[in-house]
Amino acid sequence: MRILVSNDDGYFSPGIVLLAERLAALGEVTVVAPERDRSGASNSLTLDRPLTARRAPNGFRYVNGTPTDCVHLALTGMIDPLPDLVISGINLGANMGDDTIYSGTVAAATEGYLFGIPSLAVSLAGRAGRHLETAATVAVELVRRAMRLPLAPPVLLNVNVPDVALAELGGIEATRLGRRHKAEPVVQMKTPRGETAYWIGPAGNAQDAGPGTDFHAVAAGRVSVTPLQVDLSQHQQLPLVVEWLKK
Ligand code: MN
Repeated sequence: MRILVSNDDGYFSPGIVLLAERLAALGEVTVVAPERDRSGASNSLTLDRPLTARRAPNGFRYVNGTPTDCVHLALTGMIDPLPDLVISGINLGANMGDDTIYSGTVAAATEGYLFGIPSLAVSLAGRAGRHLETAATVAVELVRRAMRLPLAPPVLLNVNVPDVALAELGGIEATRLGRRHKAEPVVQMKTPRGETAYWIGPAGNAQDAGPGTDFHAVAAGRVSVTPLQVDLSQHQQLPLVVEWLKK
């Protein structure tokens, strides 16, 4: 079993260090991750400059690019043979609902999925990251389960783990993505030279957080596992657009 591990918080993040350490019990782990925090990088590829992949003292490889760059490089020439599994995380902070569109954590897993490799994104739903151990244990359990009972491909699972001790977890639930309210307003400030600077505001609170959603499961203390796909087509609207174009 070969496992490629990446993230968006950077190769030095305690989340990826713990995840790689734990997964080593299940197979051969290779880490290729961004050299700095690239949270919010989504599925971006760096096309305007070359990339370098350097090796840290602990064996991790770090790339001066995005999470998607890391997995793309690994799968298109850096790693041979290809991994059986791609795991991204453990992210410090939830990736639920609309977050999945912006998330670099989900994007790294999505890149694996687009190459036909079963992929998993794992996030700890709590910025403080107090219980990374809980998320690492859940990740290992899910990989063990996938080895024992492989899901029909293609597989892209988005996992969010409540930031609580393992004994306090309320179980595990298959969910759909909820939705958030629109983001908080941008934060404005003056630079020392009098120019206005803007910070993108935080994500909005959950709006669609009813039973069955990722928000609902995590709020109830359960691990949320959402199967994702990449298909931006609006299938329901397609026949309407066909008719609209005839008019
Ligand atoms: Mn992140």
